[in-house]
Amino acid sequence: MNTLKEKLVVLRRDFHKYAEAGWTEFRTSSKIADRLETLGYDVLVGKEVINTEAVMGRMDEEKIQRHIERALCQGADQKWIDRMEGYTGVVGIVDTKIPGPTTALRFDIDSNDAIEMEEDHHRPYREGFSSVNKGAMHACGHDGHAAIGLGVAEALMEIKDQLKGKIKLIFQPAEEGVRGAKAMVEKGIVDDVDNFLAAHIGFGYPIGTVVAKPSGFLCTTKANVFYKGKGSHAGGAPNEGKNALLAASSAVMNLYAIPRHNDGATRINVGRLQAGVGRNVIAPNAFMEIETRGSSDEINQYMYNQAHRILEHSAKMYDVDYKIEKVGEAVACPSDDELVEEIIKESQKLKSVLNVEKEVYFGGSEDATWLMKRVQEKGGKSAYMLLGTTIAAPHHNECFDFDEDILETGVFLFGNLIKKLNGI
Ligand SMILES: [Zn+2]
Ligand SMILES: [Zn+2]
Repeated sequence: MNTLKEKLVVLRRDFHKYAEAGWTEFRTSSKIADRLETLGYDVLVGKEVINTEAVMGRMDEEKIQRHIERALCQGADQKWIDRMEGYTGVVGIVDTKIPGPTTALRFDIDSNDAIEMEEDHHRPYREGFSSVNKGAMHACGHDGHAAIGLGVAEALMEIKDQLKGKIKLIFQPAEEGVRGAKAMVEKGIVDDVDNFLAAHIGFGYPIGTVVAKPSGFLCTTKANVFYKGKGSHAGGAPNEGKNALLAASSAVMNLYAIPRHNDGATRINVGRLQAGVGRNVIAPNAFMEIETRGSSDEINQYMYNQAHRILEHSAKMYDVDYKIEKVGEAVACPSDDELVEEIIKESQKLKSVLNVEKEVYFGGSEDATWLMKRVQEKGGKSAYMLLGTTIAAPHHNECFDFDEDILETGVFLFGNLIKKLNGI
């Protein structure tokens, strides 16, 4: 019989090897669903947990189909694939029917769009579990999150007779690019939840450190921008063209010139700009991936409105057509202090936790905030924590890897918090 730690490492490495990016986690979802069902959970998958109207940043059906086929080749079960109906994500529920609160944990399961380093100094490659799916790599630790989730699932079933209330284990797709959580919220997945917890591993904190209240999550909007002009001969008929490259370049310069806001932090980024077809052609097309952020919904909205105005008028200035497509969005949502207190207490009880940071400014974005906010709106409590683990390279880097000891600590901490919150 393997120890818990060994089991978690096997799970994490399996998810790592078969990395699947947002909205394509078919094999990952199938494996999770299978395990949860075996353990005795009521399992919901795909369309049963996703409101398709609220889905953001999903690729076209043809690509989805190709990913489904790949997942089947890599061990996904046809039964689950059929039930998913083209959408990923899993929720495992245990309803004891004994009075008690409903507690939900959220684990994100998607990988990044990254090409994993294939050199011996990178442990996943050296030890044979680097991604076999070129262009998809777990470079943020969500493979670890999924493993922790299944570890908690098993640990809870070992004390099934003592459980009270209802427990929901949410395995969320497409966190990267903040695309997936809103669709689960809009399906009502957390509408009955009294306590909601989520965590991220790593983020610069070493193994042994827990940050009980990372604060300052930024609201964010992600958008794709398309400019369509008209190609023409750059020497013979430049006047007949409509230059989408110029429109886009002008927009980029002006996006960064949006005035900062007195009420709080703002961010703007154009992470990608592609334009044109060749040296002597007036560029007929341009494509940009942009994002705005703000320390509150209002400030992010201010940034997005300003960005929208600039994108629109840059297009008009150069007489090109434009289309702006929202592909991701997250809100700001502070943790409830009552839950933070429980996190501090339970962390301090664990031998593997040496240092508990109470409140630390974080400043990133996370779409768990959609779930947190809905729980709070319905009268429940929610919190988010960071579980430090030593990392080999920054998050999203092609050499990302982490100290797997955090997996067991994660299971203990979530497990103990559920016991505490559900009065066991
Ligand atoms: Zn990430
Ligand atoms: Zn992440």
